[in-house]
Amino acid sequence: MTGNITVLGSTGSIGVQTLDVARMHGIKVSALTANRSIDLLEKQAREFCPKMVAVLDPDCAKKLKIALSDTDIAVYSGEEGIKEAARCPGADTAVNAIVGVAGLMPTLEAVAAGKDLALANKETLVAGGKVVSRAIESKGVKLYPVDSEHSAVFQCLQGNPKKALKKVILTASGGPFYGRTKEQLRDVTLKDALKHPNWSMGQKITIDSATMMNKGLEVIEASWLFGVPDEGIDVLIHRESIVHSMVQYMDNSVIAQLGVPDMRIPIQYALTYPERLESPVKELDLSEIAALTFAKPDYETFECLAICRKALRLGGLYPAVVNAANEAAVSLFIQGKIGFLQIPEAVGRALTDFDGNKDEFTLEDILEADRITRARILTA
Ligand code: NAD
Ligand code: MG
Repeated sequence: MTGNITVLGSTGSIGVQTLDVARMHGIKVSALTANRSIDLLEKQAREFCPKMVAVLDPDCAKKLKIALSDTDIAVYSGEEGIKEAARCPGADTAVNAIVGVAGLMPTLEAVAAGKDLALANKETLVAGGKVVSRAIESKGVKLYPVDSEHSAVFQCLQGNPKKALKKVILTASGGPFYGRTKEQLRDVTLKDALKHPNWSMGQKITIDSATMMNKGLEVIEASWLFGVPDEGIDVLIHRESIVHSMVQYMDNSVIAQLGVPDMRIPIQYALTYPERLESPVKELDLSEIAALTFAKPDYETFECLAICRKALRLGGLYPAVVNAANEAAVSLFIQGKIGFLQIPEAVGRALTDFDGNKDEFTLEDILEADRITRARILTA
């Protein structure tokens, strides 16, 4: 179990819930970071007394420095500041709860500094799976998944031989638009897309759930975490979000992890592994749920899922490209500049347009593929 963490992206949905877990179990906090939300960051800093905080936006960082001038908490700014927080001495685990590929460099910094990782930031593995895995291996640090599906798989793998694993079965709620036709998706609004049936999360992942890009990113994430190819990962629609994922072994025995949909369970397991401690999360009452349903996903309507699977099969820089295209398209959709169906269109087009793929590549190649793809979509 970890005793001291740094929380990257502490003001977001996962960040705040991580601090709930830290508060409950007396886990110390060495560093906190945010993009711009300094009022909340100041409140968190006063409660948890970290050594340092970092804010991406330099003007916000200046304001926070003044606000915290009565404390001895150091305030850093910009990307360098966030990296400083990722390396913060004293922390044994870095919780990465930053959204988007912006989390990749802080992940690598934390690993280079010898920290274990509790990873919520799935884009880190989607875009940088190879580079991150190599860094983790060479430093000998541990990687604990926070994403609920991957935590479920990780839990189902405990105590079983890895070589007996036949299949990973990721469950998906299907999002707010489950069952709709493409035509019915044409005019959906940002407000419609933000109404997730079971989870309350940050804006970007909520839109990703509506397009099912989220499940596509999770298939790629699972492939890196558990060493399974595309064919070894099934996706099942499960509207109730009670079964968080499953694994099937060679003997066709299936093991599942269940619980009420609350991210504090997977966050806590990543921080207390291999211990199991009390949790503020409600007990699961299956008699109240009554029925658990499962169905195949609609790959034709929710194209992002199929595109991500294709990117995973193609390998190389393609996963980084689809991720970048999605980040750019989602930001345009949030700003009201494109329609909902233009998100999958942009992601699909990025995959066909990209002609710089390599099997062997560096971090710089990943960042370059990300930059090129983003620029194409934002300037189209
Ligand atoms: P969020 O938008 O609520 O929070 C993001 C955090 O990152 C905030 O603290 C923000 O200040 C910070 N941030 C934003 N942009 C940044 C940048 N460019 N550089 C540095 N910091 C930045 O997001 P979230 O819903 O908490 O999701 C965080 C990550 O966890 C995502 O990768 C998401 O896919 C993953 N995840 C979230 C959930 C969930 O329930 N929210 C579940 C599974 C996985
Ligand atoms: Mg998930």
